Amino acid sequence: MYLKKLEIYGFKSFADKIEIDFKKGITGIVGPNGSGKSNIIDAVRWVLGEQSAKTLRGSKMEDVIFNGTSHRRPLGMAEVSLSFDNSDKLLPIDYSEVTITRRIYRSGESEYLINKTPCRLKDIKELLMDTGIGIDGYSLIGQGQIDSILSSKTEDRRQIFEEAAGIVKYKARKAEAEKKLENTYQNIVRINDIIGELE
Ligand code: ATP
Repeated sequence: MYLKKLEIYGFKSFADKIEIDFKKGITGIVGPNGSGKSNIIDAVRWVLGEQSAKTLRGSKMEDVIFNGTSHRRPLGMAEVSLSFDNSDKLLPIDYSEVTITRRIYRSGESEYLINKTPCRLKDIKELLMDTGIGIDGYSLIGQGQIDSILSSKTEDRRQIFEEAAGIVKYKARKAEAEKKLENTYQNIVRINDIIGELE
């Protein structure tokens, strides 16, 4: 699996649609200060489901929509799509190319899609779990993050190894099952109370 293409429209400084085709190997993005290099990485973080406007260097999520310049009107929506070559089927989905899309409108409404089919953020997170690509993965290392990885708590470092070892999805499923068990236990307690009152 490898990153094939990034398409950005209306996101931050990219008022016009841009497409970046990644070839196998290393790709470097260079440009003058303020030309939008970090905005490209923000776009990748955002399409993968980033929920923190602060992490994307804004104060609210709508700040990611192109907000106009002296000679160009603001846009009403932003859209980012990230495509992976999945011919090795590393992503657990029956497609040899997978495109994840996120849209946001000025109303605050937002949408996620996998291969043009609307889905939940949860579906995207599950798809990328244990691949190292999700926003909690280790594939996106921001400025200054190496220091924090080296000096962060042992539990935080363990999370990186767990993602690399491919056990995050099992931990997530265990947590979900435990939550269901707890809810079921609470329901049993409530039913027993009702039975007790009726007897
Ligand atoms: P540096 O090399 O200094 O880190 P950079 O190439 O990484 O710069 P970015 O930080 O990606 O540059 O881009 C900053 C530019 O993006 C600024 O000019 C800012 O005005 C513009 N920008 C950010 N958000 C928006 C938005 N919502 N609408 C329009 N422009 C935006």
